[in-house]
Amino acid sequence: MSVFSGRKALVIGGSRGIGAAIVRRLSRDGASVRFTWAGSRARAEDIARETGAQAIRADATDRSAILGATRDAGPIDIFVFNAGICIAGDPLVLNPDDVDRMIDINIRAAYHGAVEAARAMPDGGRIILIGSTNANRVPFRGLAAYSMTKSALQSMVRGLARDFGGRRITVNVVQPGPTDTDMNPANGPEADLMHSVMAIKEHGCAEDVAAYVAFLAGHAARGITGAMQTIDGGFSA
Ligand code: NDP
Repeated sequence: MSVFSGRKALVIGGSRGIGAAIVRRLSRDGASVRFTWAGSRARAEDIARETGAQAIRADATDRSAILGATRDAGPIDIFVFNAGICIAGDPLVLNPDDVDRMIDINIRAAYHGAVEAARAMPDGGRIILIGSTNANRVPFRGLAAYSMTKSALQSMVRGLARDFGGRRITVNVVQPGPTDTDMNPANGPEADLMHSVMAIKEHGCAEDVAAYVAFLAGHAARGITGAMQTIDGGFSA
């Protein structure tokens, strides 16, 4: 029998990169998976076809869409909030609307999605948010707003772990370091700079982040909650 057979999972933001790797991993491990997408219809359809997971359009900037997608999934055993954007640059010139959009996706949707998932979640369920090592360390200019959105997830999981712990629901944040995706390609112009502050001087891969998520979703992680799970090649060491 597969690890997650009989379990239902919802991944918010599963069409590309780390989210797609999580959809693949949880599906492979036997979960019945739904995932959301916003802009990448073709990529979402490919992942759905490949994994058998169900793809649902829900833009994370729209609270009612996230609440609806979560509610419609019914009782979810494993809720993963992965959707995120990175708006980086000089805070004096960044477009405030872009920053607010990032806050909407990275913080507001994560909070409302997690709370909605917890409503019908069976005892022993799992809530996993994808944060960033930049919540711990901001060694470069231009990352204040992005890092702020990810450090918000730290107190979110600490608090929600207390709120839902009586039902043995665990709430954690996984904090990747530089990971090879569309958002942060391993051959991108900033790669050498990022590697310069890492102990292991290379990008991580989405599949390793997905493996960490699968561990947290599993039985052996039942005592881990309200905690930061960093997988960053020593970026924050
Ligand atoms: P990608 O840009 O490769 O993928 C982002 C994913 O988020 C896509 O599936 C995208 O879906 C979804 N998404 C973006 N905006 C929305 C929205 N408005 N509504 C719903 N879904 C949305 O990024 P990564 O895979 O690299 O990043 C995934 C997560 O990991 C993010 O939270 C990011 O901050 C975090 N992270 C990434 C790191 C990296 O180095 N790659 C490092 C640290 C953290 P669609 O295309 O369909 O809109």
